[in-house]
Amino acid sequence: KGIVSPAASESERAAEAALRPRQLSEFVGQETVRSQLSLVLEAAVARGKTPDHVLLSGPPGLGKTTLSMIIAAEVNGSLRLTSGPAIQNPGDLAAVLSSLQENDVLFIDEIHRLARTAEEMLYLAMEDFRVDVMVGKGPGATSIPLPLPPFTVVGATTRAGLLPAPLRDRFGFTGHLEYYEEEELALIVTRNAVKLQANLEADAAHEIASRSRGTPRIANRLLRRVQDWAQVRGNGVLDLAAARAALDVFEVDRRGLDRLDRAVLEAVCVRFRGGPVGLTTLAVSVGEEPETVETVAEPYLVREGFLVRTPRGRAATRLAFDHLGLPGPAPEETLF
Ligand code: ATP
Repeated sequence: KGIVSPAASESERAAEAALRPRQLSEFVGQETVRSQLSLVLEAAVARGKTPDHVLLSGPPGLGKTTLSMIIAAEVNGSLRLTSGPAIQNPGDLAAVLSSLQENDVLFIDEIHRLARTAEEMLYLAMEDFRVDVMVGKGPGATSIPLPLPPFTVVGATTRAGLLPAPLRDRFGFTGHLEYYEEEELALIVTRNAVKLQANLEADAAHEIASRSRGTPRIANRLLRRVQDWAQVRGNGVLDLAAARAALDVFEVDRRGLDRLDRAVLEAVCVRFRGGPVGLTTLAVSVGEEPETVETVAEPYLVREGFLVRTPRGRAATRLAFDHLGLPGPAPEETLF
């Protein structure tokens, strides 16, 4: 995985655990979701009931897992983590559901990838707090209803629209997470530096924040790399020079583009003279699989306005040429 990938590996999740905010009040940014959620949780606690099921949508690395942990802590329940892909059939889901205790929070990451055959069971569990367990096989099989204690499902998905409507309807509250502002990311890394016992200076915090693609997971990762650099190559202080030097070593540029992002942009700008160029041709020219270009590099390049997708392929914008320090295409060739 690349240094600016929004996804986390298993080992990275362990490093992240130490940096997670534990309370809603420590959770930086996302004002809308935060105030909505705090209302839902406070009301539930005041009534002595478990809160409604919560759906969180948004890109990876913006804090969905963290929020689910905070919800569990606020309602005094334990957090159970699972994911759509981990539930292959109704039996897998029945096993998870039947082990839940009162007030538990069941976090289902990538809930849009849940097996269709398990969905019915989840509907019933969310609505009636019940699971029907099949006993026996063939004509003699019977289903025995098993009551479940009250619990809360927190579903996470990259897009709420990916969920079948009946599942979406069973969530009482949907929160959408947005990319973070530079100021917010600077605050996050500043607080986390304290937890990591790193001496991080304010301008270095902003430097890290500005290269983190609006994503706390990436900011935390860059912070750890700057800490490495300061310790091994520098004088221990995470100052602006250390931040720049470290991020240069890891080839993360001023706008948070990594080596693949720049290779893609350069190919479109130079080899294909601004495009448009088809995905497969583009991928071959940077020596990658089309899928990698499409899912790893392209989303951020498009979001930041470096690249546009047209019916005839990918085209570079003026911003892309400027960013690479290249003269733009001749005026008659300019499409955008
Ligand atoms: P994925 O969907 O890939 O699992 P996620 O959206 O669940 O990602 P988290 O694992 O919750 O993301 O967050 C990634 C990292 O970013 C964690 O270390 C977390 O502590 C940190 N983080 C996320 N949001 C915030 C925030 N608002 N304030 C402080 N730290 C945050």
